[in-house]
Amino acid sequence: MQVSRRQFFKICAGGMAGTTAAALGFAPAIALAETRSYKLLRAQETRNTCTYCSVGCGLLMYSMGDGAKNARASIFHIEGDPDHPVNRGALCPKGAGLIDYVNSESRLKYPEYRAPGSDKWQRITWDDAFNRIAKLMKDDRDANFQKTNENGVTVNRWLTSGLLAASASSNENGLLTQKFSRALGMLAVDNQARV
Ligand code: SF4
Repeated sequence: MQVSRRQFFKICAGGMAGTTAAALGFAPAIALAETRSYKLLRAQETRNTCTYCSVGCGLLMYSMGDGAKNARASIFHIEGDPDHPVNRGALCPKGAGLIDYVNSESRLKYPEYRAPGSDKWQRITWDDAFNRIAKLMKDDRDANFQKTNENGVTVNRWLTSGLLAASASSNENGLLTQKFSRALGMLAVDNQARV
């Protein structure tokens, strides 16, 4: 259909007036009754911290399916937590895309081990992973722990292993990490929040 410039403006003005009238309640009742219900209404809300960086923004994660025996809970929406003191509801583009990270097919959900010289990763249990880490730490500490330095001064330090804590750790986690690593004499302790 060919319209002149003047006709075009008239059509636009008419459309806007119609939209405004509908919002003010002049539209047929059936149209207003079609307003969508709030999609998070029946979802379970869980608080968490963004895993990506040291800012540590607070998240609200919404899942469905919880509580029903024949349904698997799955997260379908994530947004910033407006009550969180760090981000006040805001998320950067990385945090705003967390739903894809959570549901990614390539997301690692269990520990894996690659033997020396092998090009293959094999799945192991959490118990196997913890036992292996503990054994390797003990072996290394037994072999390299220093009670005194070259001048005979007591130092009680272990310099050949280090620990990197996750940026999403809470203050309490950070305190426990420090107590654990310092009790072993470990000096190389850092946090992803600083990297
Ligand atoms: S939302 Fe962005 S700024 Fe906030 S913790 Fe995640 S990655 Fe960092």
